[in-house]
Amino acid sequence: MNKVFSIAIDGPSGAGKSTIAKKLANELDIMYLDTGALFRAVAYQALKLKVDPNDLEAVTEFIPEVELEINFVNKEQRVSINEKDVTDFIRTEEVSIAASDISVHPIIRNFILEKERELASKESFVLDGRDIGTVVLPKAEVKIFLSASPEIRAKRRYKDLEKQSDDEVEYQQVLADILKRDKQDSSRKTAPTKKAKDAVFLDSSNLTLAETLAQVKKIVKEKLLKNQGCYENDK
Ligand code: C5P
Repeated sequence: MNKVFSIAIDGPSGAGKSTIAKKLANELDIMYLDTGALFRAVAYQALKLKVDPNDLEAVTEFIPEVELEINFVNKEQRVSINEKDVTDFIRTEEVSIAASDISVHPIIRNFILEKERELASKESFVLDGRDIGTVVLPKAEVKIFLSASPEIRAKRRYKDLEKQSDDEVEYQQVLADILKRDKQDSSRKTAPTKKAKDAVFLDSSNLTLAETLAQVKKIVKEKLLKNQGCYENDK
């Protein structure tokens, strides 16, 4: 396999996309792009500058001042805004909600879409997000839509947050945030969270991580074998 190909893993928050995508990329020895981190970085900067992520006018004024850079250090993704690495500050609940708010604006989506496409045109990637299979890379060789029940996703996210943060986290709050983001991300006009017609749907509610990964690998293998010899660099 020496041509560039893309694997899109879309789905709602907390479905396990990033863990699965990272492991898959590692096993295939290709790159992994966490596209949520790009929206989070922009949202983080907006919060820092006190730009209301819901205010289109303010966001439109703010975005030309934002220089978003994505680097890979030993394949680990780092995101910088105006030359400051913000990777370690974008995982809070506040940034999660602001990312969901700011990502409804087409001006933000187009800004990030360009960067996603540029990267994916150069190297093979596993990308996780919401609109990779539908909008960003509609010709991706493999498309998976990974989901799970909101309660299971909230439990997983709660565990992650407990590990990451010294602040007290409440499960009910995490569930409420997940439901809010689900609603907003799937009902927005531009690029909502949606399964592409040709994506394979996978529900990870009753699967362990290892089981989910095994299923994903099976899908990837089948799709890539089908696509062999016709990888195109024109996505
Ligand atoms: O995946 P993650 O939870 O890090 O994404 C944060 C937010 O960024 C999502 O709730 C969603 O609103 C937005 N997002 C998006 N499109 C993507 C990835 C993330 O709109 N491809």
